[in-house]
Amino acid sequence: MQIRENFSLKAFNTFGIDVRAKYFVGFSSVDEIQELSDNHKLLQRSPHGQTTNYKLILGGGSNLLFTKDFDGIVLKNEIKGIEITHQDNDFIYVKAGAGVNWHEFVLFCIRNNYAGVENLSLIPGNVGASPMQNIGAYGAEVKDVFYQLEAYHINEKKRKTFSLDECEFGYRESVFKRKYKNEFIITSVSFRLRKTPVFNISYGAIQQELEKIGVRELNIQAISQAVINIRSSKLPDWKEVGNAGSFFKNPQIPNLQFQQLKEKFTGIVAFRAGEDHTKLAAGWLIEQCGWKGYRKGDAGCYTRQALVLVNYGNATGKEIFDLSEDIIQSVKNKFEVSLQREVNII
Ligand SMILES: Cc1cc2nc3c(=O)[nH]c(=O)nc-3n(C[C@H](O)[C@H](O)[C@H](O)COP(=O)(O)OP(=O)(O)OC[C@H]3O[C@@H](n4cnc5c(N)ncnc54)[C@H](O)[C@@H]3O)c2cc1C
Repeated sequence: MQIRENFSLKAFNTFGIDVRAKYFVGFSSVDEIQELSDNHKLLQRSPHGQTTNYKLILGGGSNLLFTKDFDGIVLKNEIKGIEITHQDNDFIYVKAGAGVNWHEFVLFCIRNNYAGVENLSLIPGNVGASPMQNIGAYGAEVKDVFYQLEAYHINEKKRKTFSLDECEFGYRESVFKRKYKNEFIITSVSFRLRKTPVFNISYGAIQQELEKIGVRELNIQAISQAVINIRSSKLPDWKEVGNAGSFFKNPQIPNLQFQQLKEKFTGIVAFRAGEDHTKLAAGWLIEQCGWKGYRKGDAGCYTRQALVLVNYGNATGKEIFDLSEDIIQSVKNKFEVSLQREVNII
């Protein structure tokens, strides 16, 4: 493994932000991580003594915003491989390396008729990051198909297996985003996929798209294609316009607060979130504040979806971050609702 110095990260984040990492190294097996942590002081502690913000585990770079050069070591996960570990009457258990591209994994499942991830088609990034924020789309979340994951504790140099409960999944949340931030490298994820599909087409425009493409008999290939079509029409291709998907989470507020908002803003877009809470469409709130299509320099708010912040070319991470601050403030002023960022700010 070659440790590179002063390494450009522009090609390693979907925002296309031009920053540099002090050190950068790729690894393709757990043994290689072990070797790195045994032999390189860099991984054990920063020169200033801090251990957390000095290391960054990198997948596809599709859920982060670099606001400055990274004054530490970037560990690029390149562990590949997909294998079937076991099966029972109803399920097939598939383990994928953390460095496998997520959509390639989805396509592998679809080719083999393993059901459960079709609604999660075309999400950028790698398998290893999928449990980080419990990725979700079109009424499905990774937790619905999650079986277990294997991870490596960098400082303790120990391997650990995490069960579903231990991951503490929530809406775009997991234990790895909070309590264990930057402590574990996820090395593989195992999924529990159905042999007989349970179709989920009630969300968004899936049904409409299936009709449009003339699907008569429902199957996971068709659902995946419908999701791909919808996503391609709504979201900017990050290879052309830098972005990290939804920049903000949909805020959840108590039902009482929602009733009060609804009296004032009759068109407010919302969904139930359990018994006591309502989830608001953050995109709608942002749009109402006039941000949709806004552009300052190369930083902007996407013309077709206000939830997506974009880099039209040479925006800095700081400019995009500042725009997100202004959006949060104006939503707060108009609706008294606090938006939280979904994207990791580095
Ligand atoms: C166009 C577009 C559309 C998107 N749509 C969706 C969507 O529909 N739903 C959704 O949930 N997300 C969506 N996203 C966000 C993103 O694709 C997901 O969050 C994805 O899982 C990030 O994967 P990644 O490999 O790129 O992670 P990275 O951006 O590289 O990393 C994200 C975080 O995870 C950590 N991390 C990464 N890999 C590991 C590992 N192996 N071990 C430990 N920590 C790790 C990083 O340190 C960082 O904190 C979208 C992004 C884009 C650009």
